[in-house]
Amino acid sequence: MNASVKTIHEPARDIPVLLEADVVVVGGGTTGPLAAIAAARRGCKVALIERFGSLGGILTLGLNTKPSGALVGGIPREIWDLARKAGGAGKDYQAITKTGGVKLASPTDPEVMKMLLTRLCAEAGVQILFETFVSNPVVEDGTVKGVVIEGKAGRQFVGAKVIVDCSADADMAAKAGAPFIMGTGGVDPRMQPVSMYYIMKNVDVKRLAVWAKTCADVPAQAIPANDEDLGYNLWLTGFNNMLKAFQAETGVVLQRENITLKTTDGQMYVNATRVLGVNVFDPGEFTKAVLECYRQIEGVSRFLIERVPGFENARIGQLSPILGVRETRHIAGEYTLTGPDTIQGTRFEDSIAADASALDIHEPKGGDVDFQSMPPYEIPYRCLVPQKIEQILVAGRCISADHDAHARSRNMPACMATGQAAGTAAAIAVEEGTTVRNVPVAKVQAALRGLGMPLHSEEIVG
Ligand SMILES: Cc1cc2nc3c(=O)[nH]c(=O)nc-3n(C[C@H](O)[C@H](O)[C@H](O)COP(=O)(O)OP(=O)(O)OC[C@H]3O[C@@H](n4cnc5c(N)ncnc54)[C@H](O)[C@@H]3O)c2cc1C
Repeated sequence: MNASVKTIHEPARDIPVLLEADVVVVGGGTTGPLAAIAAARRGCKVALIERFGSLGGILTLGLNTKPSGALVGGIPREIWDLARKAGGAGKDYQAITKTGGVKLASPTDPEVMKMLLTRLCAEAGVQILFETFVSNPVVEDGTVKGVVIEGKAGRQFVGAKVIVDCSADADMAAKAGAPFIMGTGGVDPRMQPVSMYYIMKNVDVKRLAVWAKTCADVPAQAIPANDEDLGYNLWLTGFNNMLKAFQAETGVVLQRENITLKTTDGQMYVNATRVLGVNVFDPGEFTKAVLECYRQIEGVSRFLIERVPGFENARIGQLSPILGVRETRHIAGEYTLTGPDTIQGTRFEDSIAADASALDIHEPKGGDVDFQSMPPYEIPYRCLVPQKIEQILVAGRCISADHDAHARSRNMPACMATGQAAGTAAAIAVEEGTTVRNVPVAKVQAALRGLGMPLHSEEIVG
């Protein structure tokens, strides 16, 4: 702790044990529910602990909705098929980018997805604890034994044989003492910027699609051939020159070179804000970033309404209630996935997922977004196993991947796949009475294949 920080003394005290689980999953966002479902379906007693009042994190509350890549198998694909049946997703589709075509899974209606994830967890027997913040892991002799939670009832303890840290920021692994780097690492680490999604209502989507088809300033796009697919399959990225001209002519200052628009259930979701260099662990800086996103949302909305056909009668419909954080801690695991691994598609014998996500870099220093289609790559089990601390796995955007590899592995298809793998591995470690570090990886791989998950690049079909 910084010696200049004023402190108070918090007296030690006994706290009640709320429950004892086999597997505790911390964070019910994009990744956590997959881990919880995978472990519970194998018969483990699972608790899934989430600080907000619904599941899905950035996928649902963050209004992110669209996986940047195909969902190639396993529980993620099962969930999307169920969402589609419930009217909460459209067709999967192909987008044109600067580097060629990229296959994308359909966006999903966040409200349908919240209910679906919750139902699947409940059906699998997962004990969800909403509105519960996990403040600390309890560690004895280098092994985690459970977590301390905070809620209206005060502080309580939830015991665990294994913790799966799906908090996005690796809160548990880091507090337990696992080594990590922030962003690019080094003395002056840089991280991908934060953004806030929002929805615009009353957009004439058809008029927008007709205009965008022939607009040279929207070079990356997916425009469905049939009008009935406009509700889920319209995706546009660009507007760079129009934005530049708008700012020069109006004096409105925005922070991002481009705008991404996508439809979800017929509504227009806008990704257009950016704040660089935010320390999201500082509550003051975090709040300043939220205010800056609000300011930018007003400016972007004015641009869209005044300059883009189809937005003439549009208004701001909904702001995401959470700030979208792209990058913080990367845990140092038994292996660190590198940028070249994800570009060359290095083959790993302990692969737990083949991933077809795009490369999606928002440069920490600013500049245009680099969104590229690439051949699949593999994620080894060792990236989920932190160094030094026993009985904890990480999954989601905080796995052991360097800043360049994270440009692919932070995408939702990869996050969900690591969640599914971590939950499966945790359950098998419990079944076998062994540690997650020593779990028989071949057994984990067999279980994942049983779920229909391709583990090597050449196994991806279609
Ligand atoms: C603005 C933005 C746009 C993006 N665009 C795309 C895109 O188009 N396509 C794509 O595939 N990916 C995109 N990404 C990346 C992707 O969405 C994320 O990397 C991914 O969703 C992260 O999943 P996660 O489960 O690791 O984190 P989250 O979804 O953030 O889940 C973490 C969960 O843990 C909970 N939590 C955290 N700490 C605690 C605690 N201490 N106690 C209890 N609960 C806790 C949180 O409340 C949250 O629900 C984008 C990201 C951002 C920010």
